[in-house]
Amino acid sequence: MEISCPSCGKMNETSPCLRCGCDLATLFNLRHAAEQALAEATRFLRDGEMADAYGQASRSWELRHSAPAAQLAFLAAIGMADFPGALKWRQRRGAFNS
Ligand SMILES: [Zn+2]
Repeated sequence: MEISCPSCGKMNETSPCLRCGCDLATLFNLRHAAEQALAEATRFLRDGEMADAYGQASRSWELRHSAPAAQLAFLAAIGMADFPGALKWRQRRGAFNS
């Protein structure tokens, strides 16, 4: 997992930034938490627990806007027959295609 340093733009796999020394630990922790929530959302979706899948996908989205988080939230919303919600997530997901 690489993170772009917000200070100098260098891609880093660890903290601190290899170029400028910026502490990136918080960013790595946020990315890790977002990926954990995504994994949980996937598991809940596979188990048919749509409300929990939706909750974890939304949490992942709050931590880091990503296409997989929007896609999982979209699928969970469909699973809950929340079609206005599904439309919102579809639009968020679509923003990554442009
Ligand atoms: Zn840097």
